[in-house]
Amino acid sequence: MIVAKFGGTSVGDTAAIERTAAIVRGRLSRHPVIVVSALAGTTNALLELAAQSAQGQFIVALRGIEMLRDRHLAVVDELLGDGEAAADIAADVSVLFDELAHLGEALSVLGDLSPRSLDAVAAYGERLSAPIVTAAFLQRGIPATFVDARRVMVTDATFGKALPQVDAIADAAREQLLPLLRAGRVPVLGGYIGATAAGITTTLGRGGSDYSAALFGAALDVEAIEIWTDVDGMLTADPRVIPAARAIEHIRFDEAAELASFGAKVLHPSTIAPAVQRSIPVFIYNSHRPEGHGTRITFDAPRLPVRAIAGRANVVLVNVKSNKMLGTPGVVRGIFAIFERFSLSVDVIATSEVSVSVTVDADHHLDAVLGELRAFGDVTVERGRGIVAIVGSGLGGHTPAMARALGALGELRVHMCSLSASGINLTVIVDGDQVHEAMRRLHRAFFEDAA
Ligand code: ASP
Ligand code: MG
Repeated sequence: MIVAKFGGTSVGDTAAIERTAAIVRGRLSRHPVIVVSALAGTTNALLELAAQSAQGQFIVALRGIEMLRDRHLAVVDELLGDGEAAADIAADVSVLFDELAHLGEALSVLGDLSPRSLDAVAAYGERLSAPIVTAAFLQRGIPATFVDARRVMVTDATFGKALPQVDAIADAAREQLLPLLRAGRVPVLGGYIGATAAGITTTLGRGGSDYSAALFGAALDVEAIEIWTDVDGMLTADPRVIPAARAIEHIRFDEAAELASFGAKVLHPSTIAPAVQRSIPVFIYNSHRPEGHGTRITFDAPRLPVRAIAGRANVVLVNVKSNKMLGTPGVVRGIFAIFERFSLSVDVIATSEVSVSVTVDADHHLDAVLGELRAFGDVTVERGRGIVAIVGSGLGGHTPAMARALGALGELRVHMCSLSASGINLTVIVDGDQVHEAMRRLHRAFFEDAA
């Protein structure tokens, strides 16, 4: 058994769905469960028209709804042609759009958009895509069965970022999906959406389809989770910055999570958690180039000193310096309690006997945080910095690689530097406008010069 998830661009139009069907057909012997995103761009459009409705611009929202309806019906038409199946699915799609229009009208009357209503609207993307893809699969000889994901993805009521209820999902998955799989069917579910135990629609947060795939995969204890997207897996660097970046064939879970936290767009770190807990390998493939190797993410890829280079700008460095810290326990705890109170997540930390330096993302709470930090000593703030991370789980034990990394930066100014004891990444803080240059130099040193 495997779970294969197809993102928005893998189901974005007729050609993409056609490719996706071919990929699934080639995997029937592995008993796939299919998870699909909304057609590319649909979720954005839905969120926008929900906001327009609530602002009383119902006519504008309605135009958006009709555009989405036309697009979905055009895809149905292109994929399914004339027959009875096409008429059935076109009717189902139209019913969903009529409902959506009523919902938009209700929001405009209320003039209010609660997180619960927003989820109800946002869920239409996957509520539409999954039955359309199912119908297309059926017509192409794949024994697909549509399953409403809301009957399996049980969540709490934190609308907008609902918390999956793992035990309930495992029960529902076994009850609803296993009999289908045993009967040789291919269940097709929408990602991203769920429902509370009482049946109220929720969503897992933007990009949540990967998370759905991992959760369903964990619930069924599958052999592998495949994430089909529009890039060749995880790369040694962001290809927009480093054109020479290349695909990573095998990467460890902890390294992938680290890269994702640095903005590797391919995979969200929280998607990894349910799979990691069960040692299920996650594969990332490009649905536009299905013959490629993709990236395999597992617990136990061999440790390399350097697996990839990542970076991002817009980082703020905060330094708190005080002689009072000398030998005073509890100061660090006090400092971090302030960040915690404002829910400001600290990324990189370095301390000395008399100072604590941290980096955070630029945030509107920052001024308030700084005000409170002043109780602990002199506070200096450096805005416009950037983080560059050299990620590799074997880095900690490899002094030559560390020396090479710092050497490669040459005369670039390093404002702060951190290597955790687990040694999975060496993080350097540079000027924000030097992030790309630093990445280029590091990538050259580790991936281009050697090759
Ligand atoms: N359709 C949702 C989004 O755009 C979920 C996903 O694509 O993963 O955020
Ligand atoms: Mg996505």
